Amino acid sequence: MYIYADNAAATRLSETEKKAMLPYLDEIYGNPSSLHSFGQRAKDALDNAREEVARVIGAEFSSEITFTSGGSESDNQAIVSAAEIGSKKGKKHIISTKFEHHAVLRTLEKLEKKGFEITLLEPDRNGIINVRDVESEIRSDTALVTVMYANNEIGTIQPVSEIGAVCRERGVIFHTDAVQAAGHLHIDAAKQNIDMLSVSAHKFHGPKGAGALYARRGIPLVKLIEGGGQEKGRRAGTENIPGIVGLAAALKEAADNIDKNNEYLSRLRDKVIGGLLDIPNTILNGDREKRLAGNINVSFEGIEGESLLLMLDDKGIAASSGSACTSASPLPSHVLLAIGVPEEAARGSLRISLSEYNTDEEAEYIIKSVKEAVENLRNTSPVWA
Ligand SMILES: *Cc1c(COP(=O)(O)O)cnc(C)c1O
Repeated sequence: MYIYADNAAATRLSETEKKAMLPYLDEIYGNPSSLHSFGQRAKDALDNAREEVARVIGAEFSSEITFTSGGSESDNQAIVSAAEIGSKKGKKHIISTKFEHHAVLRTLEKLEKKGFEITLLEPDRNGIINVRDVESEIRSDTALVTVMYANNEIGTIQPVSEIGAVCRERGVIFHTDAVQAAGHLHIDAAKQNIDMLSVSAHKFHGPKGAGALYARRGIPLVKLIEGGGQEKGRRAGTENIPGIVGLAAALKEAADNIDKNNEYLSRLRDKVIGGLLDIPNTILNGDREKRLAGNINVSFEGIEGESLLLMLDDKGIAASSGSACTSASPLPSHVLLAIGVPEEAARGSLRISLSEYNTDEEAEYIIKSVKEAVENLRNTSPVWA
């Protein structure tokens, strides 16, 4: 048995999506910019995918969707674009949070070097951003508020609609990194007053290397990649048609099944959380209720997260100690530190992210294996008593 429980890092491609993509890897290989029928078949697929994505995330117009290479590119383009718009009006202040994905944080660091002032809000102990904190930090020169929809490490869901309402009222652009939310939570960008929103296909059973950026009509995007006039001049380069078709098919399938999947997943999640909290000196990271249905994040006192992961891998379980992007770094998770988890406990953290492919039997095996591994590590630890 090998159990995949790292779905916040990447998900398996579903059969339906694979089937949807195959013709575009095979016979429909034309360039969508070509005028001949080969090209036009690809162009039709591109148009349909754009409409589907617009519908699912609640965009008003399909032209508000730009296809990108993934969540990181969408985040970069959204933030750089809002900074450019602000800059032209003398607005050089940006509000974000301490527990964003690095695609957001590193982009903000770059802007800071270029003279922007960045305010990073602290989430509360449960991993939730307070709307009133956003409101009180907005200034007359605030160009952008960017707050993630759901956190990738602790799964906590942010009050995005409330933040959107505040930003709209104050005339500030609001971007949300919805990479963990799309396909997992109901999104209605227009109604939620979201101006820009990032998604990535491989987080909802679509292919890697395919993402989308929603930007409300009237918000001009800065081109990060120069070249041809693809994507209405917002991103050059021949479109990744198989990836885009897979993204749209996966998003539709995920969105059609959100309620069913979440009901199933939250039951599994709660079972695993309950089982793991039976282990002495264990804490749950992130709000108990306001969290993604598949997310479990716990800290075990006296444990090195890396050793635990290796032991679990030996037992046939793929999990994570935090985000995949930082797992090579020896520093404890910036997300856990931001919510006030002490450094020692942050080093002993484990993220299990389930998908609808996981079963009850697997959940039970995970609980049993983690218990054994933690006991084992603590028994052999020179400092644990
Ligand atoms: C995975 C992830 C990203 C990056 O997406 P890629 O498609 O891997 O570039 C950005 N933000 C969050 C919250 C993520 O979970």
